[in-house]
Amino acid sequence: MENDQEVPQPQGQPSKGKGTTLLHYTPDGNFQLHCTAKVISSCHGSIEEPQHVQILLDVTCLHPQGGGQPCDYGTIGNEKFHVSVHKVLLDPETRIVTHYGILQKGTLVDIMDSSTVQVVVDPVRRSILSQCHSAGHAIDAAIAICYPSLVATKGYHYLDGPYVVR
Ligand SMILES: [Zn+2]
Repeated sequence: MENDQEVPQPQGQPSKGKGTTLLHYTPDGNFQLHCTAKVISSCHGSIEEPQHVQILLDVTCLHPQGGGQPCDYGTIGNEKFHVSVHKVLLDPETRIVTHYGILQKGTLVDIMDSSTVQVVVDPVRRSILSQCHSAGHAIDAAIAICYPSLVATKGYHYLDGPYVVR
């Protein structure tokens, strides 16, 4: 699977390939909570906060923010470094996923020197977010039966106050 696509370009450059492979869109990947990935590129988030890093991978099991659902949390690491990931964003044009995290062990050089890493999803957060998302669609389906004239326009599946607009 990893060899049948062009790898993403470093951040800020347009991708000529298909971007990051999102495992949850693959037939067996929907409930995959860990994977092995190749580091494409990485950089510091800012000069003031050198522990903050951004990482591009060829493949990820971390769900980016989108579809009205917040992103997964999780970790990226290996024997040299360990990063806690708190934001995952998908560029809709390049289809490249950027993982934003904080170095808990190692340095940026350790990330850049790494060929492969382990990606792990926070299973508790994933579970509650998918339940909340599914609940939104269940309510939407029920309203569609009871009030067919109301057309769904927006779903918000964040835990701070999820809703469906019809
Ligand atoms: Zn949805």
